[in-house]
Amino acid sequence: NQHYDVLIIGAGPIGLACGIEAQKAGKSYIIIEKGPLVNSLYHYPVFMTFFSTSQKLEIGEVPFVSISNKPNRNEALEYYRRVAEKFELNIHLFETVNSNKKLADGSFEVNTSKAKYSAKNVIIATGFYDVPVLMNIAGEALPKVKHYYQDPHLYAFSKVLVVGANNSAIDVALETYRKGAEVTLVIRGNEIGSYVKYWVRPDIENRIKEGDIKVYYQSELAAISETTVTIKTPEGKVELANDFVLAMTGYTPNFALLKQLGVELDTTNYPEHNPETMETNLQGLYLAGVVCGGVDTHKWFIENSRVHATQIMEHILSKH
Ligand code: FAD
Repeated sequence: NQHYDVLIIGAGPIGLACGIEAQKAGKSYIIIEKGPLVNSLYHYPVFMTFFSTSQKLEIGEVPFVSISNKPNRNEALEYYRRVAEKFELNIHLFETVNSNKKLADGSFEVNTSKAKYSAKNVIIATGFYDVPVLMNIAGEALPKVKHYYQDPHLYAFSKVLVVGANNSAIDVALETYRKGAEVTLVIRGNEIGSYVKYWVRPDIENRIKEGDIKVYYQSELAAISETTVTIKTPEGKVELANDFVLAMTGYTPNFALLKQLGVELDTTNYPEHNPETMETNLQGLYLAGVVCGGVDTHKWFIENSRVHATQIMEHILSKH
């Protein structure tokens, strides 16, 4: 049973930032990650470009050098890998944290797929990319329905239906269209989402205006079969021939896991925590990164949550 001052769950950008701060503070620490390093970024679309400039994605004061002002996924993977290497961060990869128990002496017992640990403090930096928001419609379990999108080549010359109106959906629609897919968008509201990157917006608007990409506004996907999709539109039901459905309907943190780890959630699944110290309802149990927003996954991102790492470490240092 190995003991640490700080056990960090998740080696995303924010988990890594927490590891760096713990190291700087001279604390013993471990980062436990269920996948590869920066697992979420690894699973992002292969050609994605960040909306942040590289400077705003930096951690541990290590410069993120990129020739263009917005870095892409490959550059970010390399950047975070080099940062982990530089600090020789203590990370266990491909090890999943399953549960966490507060012991009588105030410390935690953390169980993973591979071992048992004890820790004075636990930081949950598990992100939001594990649980897709489901549409709960007939046919959603068919293999042609994807909640994660990676490479447009897969969809060349196919009939693709894209569900959603925000960055992921719009990027997917444009990328697959440019690889020769026949693309239809289904959007619940009246327009393209307000978060869509400002430099992407004219591109999608023009493709729609030109008729290159079809769109159904105020519409919802109602059912999926092996060869068709049925869309509920203001003019009634429409059935289209279809090869793939890309449901870019968003993701949520793993709330079941948060409860398992001891975090109290309110009725909207918001994880209770002190915004100054990031400490949860349990003393010594902290939240960091995008997971802090609950269902509001737009609230925190790398840019504005890097600071959680220093907030938490200052609080830990003030206690011991
Ligand atoms: P994550 O990066 O999600 O890291 C959480 C880690 O925890 C993962 O590696 C996961 O595998 C691990 N984990 C989960 N459960 C367990 C478990 N039980 N045991 C062990 N490990 C576990 N943000 C920006 O600031 N700028 C951008 O330009 C930007 N662009 C984006 C583009 C896309 C397509 C997407 C989807 C997101 C984008 N974001 C951007 C958001 C940003 O990626 C997230 O805010 C960021 O990943 C948050 O970092 P994190 O460390 O909190 O979580």
